[in-house]
Amino acid sequence: MEAVILATPAYAAARLLQDQIAAAVYLEQIRYVSVANLAFAYRREEIQHDLNGSGVLIPRGEGRMITAITWTSSKWLHSAPADRMLLRTYIGRLGDKAWTRLSEPEVRRRVAAELKELMGIEAEPLFCEMSSLPASMPQYPDGHVERLQELRVELERTMPGVLLCGAGYGGVGIPDCIRQGKESAEAMLTGLGDER
Ligand SMILES: Cc1cc2nc3c(=O)[nH]c(=O)nc-3n(C[C@H](O)[C@H](O)[C@H](O)COP(=O)(O)OP(=O)(O)OC[C@H]3O[C@@H](n4cnc5c(N)ncnc54)[C@H](O)[C@@H]3O)c2cc1C
Repeated sequence: MEAVILATPAYAAARLLQDQIAAAVYLEQIRYVSVANLAFAYRREEIQHDLNGSGVLIPRGEGRMITAITWTSSKWLHSAPADRMLLRTYIGRLGDKAWTRLSEPEVRRRVAAELKELMGIEAEPLFCEMSSLPASMPQYPDGHVERLQELRVELERTMPGVLLCGAGYGGVGIPDCIRQGKESAEAMLTGLGDER
């Protein structure tokens, strides 16, 4: 017997499995949101905010482009020298792709304007670095756990040794992904007859 761990996004696994597994049609229903990070660095002395915490989440109802801000240099002290301040802002949420049609300078300008409104930051950043991550955040539909279980059962029956793991399936956070990787490796070794 051979084994394959599919650690791709759900839409990629759908393309690989849909001809063999009827339940794989579900994987196409898991939508992926495009997001971006913008990291801003400032001189600490130019920022009035006390940065007492690790950041903020901004709900959809606020009508902001920014969905969250991590006060990176407060959360992880080693990430910046003591006289500097590093922020990471996040943009992009389900149903709002407007930002993907804007130029990068325009996105930077709008995010900086929101930082001014939200945190009173008026200083020019020492640098701003934007990373776009198209189709990177899976959004589980209602009934995800049950639909995925049906798929795993059919997969086990028709293609034993093929396993799914990653953010599209059993949890989005990095610890979830690590756990799934370990579980998949264990299941694969067991299936291959490993008797450690
Ligand atoms: C902006 C952002 C911030 C985040 N912040 C945090 C955080 O602070 N804490 C936290 O715990 N989690 C965070 N997450 C979530 C976490 O980082 C991700 O869910 C996790 O890294 C996804 O890992 P993965 O291995 O499932 O997917 P990926 O790392 O996306 O790996 C999927 C792989 O599949 C490959 N692939 C795609 N299509 C194919 C194909 N057809 N054939 C072969 N290979 C293919 C890709 O090239 C890629 O290498 C964040 C996610 C994002 C996007």
